[in-house]
Amino acid sequence: MKTKAAEEYVQIDDTTFAPFPAPFAHGGVTWRLLHASPEAATWSAIFQCPAGSSFASHVHAGPGEYFLHSGRMDVRGGKAAGGETAVAPGYGFESSGSRHDHTFFPVESSFYMSFSGPLVFIDENDAVIAVIGWQEAQDAWQAHLDALKAAA
Ligand code: ZN
Repeated sequence: MKTKAAEEYVQIDDTTFAPFPAPFAHGGVTWRLLHASPEAATWSAIFQCPAGSSFASHVHAGPGEYFLHSGRMDVRGGKAAGGETAVAPGYGFESSGSRHDHTFFPVESSFYMSFSGPLVFIDENDAVIAVIGWQEAQDAWQAHLDALKAAA
């Protein structure tokens, strides 16, 4: 018999966020992992995005939902370019296969997102440069925690 997964709680402000580095993001984006689910291949995180920051080109290998709780986020080029401009408080659903070439934050912003499956980062020739799923996200977050512990 399998047991059900354990419940979890995360105090979001109990430690510093980790850098979400280049080439995946630019302008000082930081993040913290909230939950990773090996069984469902889902992961949830919260991101803090300074004014002028952005995420590099990526494809969502599975659907995702976000809640922009502060600021503004231009997705798929923003409304003026046929995409979406989220203004807090805003919720969005991104379908499996959504391609986001430039997700931009004109003002300081913060959002929560739950991902089903990995984010596939691509370069200017559409070549895959990284696949970030629950395991890579968990490993990166653990490395951040280990670095904080080593520095303490
Ligand atoms: Zn995206």
